[in-house]
Amino acid sequence: MTHLTLQSVTKRFGAAHAVDNVDLTIPEGKLVCFLGPSGCGKTTLLRMIAGLEMPTSGAVMFAGRDITHVSANQRDFGMVFQSLALFPHMTVAENIAYPLKLRKTGKSEQAKRVAELLELIQLPHMAERPVTRLSGGQRQRVAIARAIATSPKLLLLDEPLSALDAKLREAMQIEIRLLQQRLGITTIMVTHDQREAMTMADEIVVMERGRIAQVGKPLDIYRDPVSEFVADFIGLGNILPVTNGESGKVRLPGGQQITVANPERVPEASGDIRLLIRPEDVHLQVGAGQGAGESNSVRGTVRFIRDVGASLEATIDCAGFTLTAATTPREVPGLAPGVVVLAALPAQACKLIAARAPQAAA
Ligand code: ATP
Repeated sequence: MTHLTLQSVTKRFGAAHAVDNVDLTIPEGKLVCFLGPSGCGKTTLLRMIAGLEMPTSGAVMFAGRDITHVSANQRDFGMVFQSLALFPHMTVAENIAYPLKLRKTGKSEQAKRVAELLELIQLPHMAERPVTRLSGGQRQRVAIARAIATSPKLLLLDEPLSALDAKLREAMQIEIRLLQQRLGITTIMVTHDQREAMTMADEIVVMERGRIAQVGKPLDIYRDPVSEFVADFIGLGNILPVTNGESGKVRLPGGQQITVANPERVPEASGDIRLLIRPEDVHLQVGAGQGAGESNSVRGTVRFIRDVGASLEATIDCAGFTLTAATTPREVPGLAPGVVVLAALPAQACKLIAARAPQAAA
């Protein structure tokens, strides 16, 4: 069932479009990430859903009802912001109980719900501790418990993990995701971190300059990005300018022609199309002897190797372009800077995508 629907939602600040004509449905029970670079409109879109910002035009529908003009506190959504906004003079239990108090929930019911939530976030032994004496991760959990105390139908998270260090952040991503799945609460999270979005989301909404660039499951977007912007934003990729070749092939910058998975994407006028191949799809073989001249293989020289133990990334200079290949240190024996390699580019992993639109003059 559709839970939240945005209909042609636009927000202008002066002449600038922060959010431009966005249509979107958020399915019930799922975690959806708004992902994009700074300034693309993620927070503005979330704030309009929260009721903290009024759209210039368009409608916000929730469970079949138009809530565009309903105030934030009447919407009854749970929210966690980057700052967390916990009350520093209160204990853990008092912070969690606060929204229940506002609702004039009875004392015993409050205590029962707080105890339940403390169990849920695995902090029952810290109920009486002032929040100022908690670690970053514990504060994070308290903020989430407070946001879901009144069992809201929608949980909105605005970069809730950005203040945490990398390790704790990754641990909290898993913790929040498991909690969200257990509760089945529809959740929207804003992030500019593609790895975070890939870890947590059922669906990712990639935003570019106030508009939706692509919506889909994380791996679908990774494997089949619709544009250079999306391909570049989601994961590492080799993005090469290509032109029309013969019989459905495309011509690489060095002139070699290769077969691709979706040749129908080659436009009549060449020059504005890119070829995407992810580093893990580039298969290396040391020595360019056998296989040289085979279709979909290019010859190159290893320029640099980044070996971080679990994975290895090789930068390869080919005729007219550079390739990055990802493997494990054990997969390709003899791989070293200066070595000549043959890089196979499997046709099914070579995707044509639309080139990035030129940036409008500021
Ligand atoms: P970040 O990741 O940096 O928070 P974002 O994707 O969340 O970025 P928004 O904060 O939604 O982006 O901002 C979108 C655009 O709207 C930006 O160009 C921003 O400068 C502008 N903007 C946001 N809020 C206001 C405001 N209150 N007044 C004027 N312009 C605003």
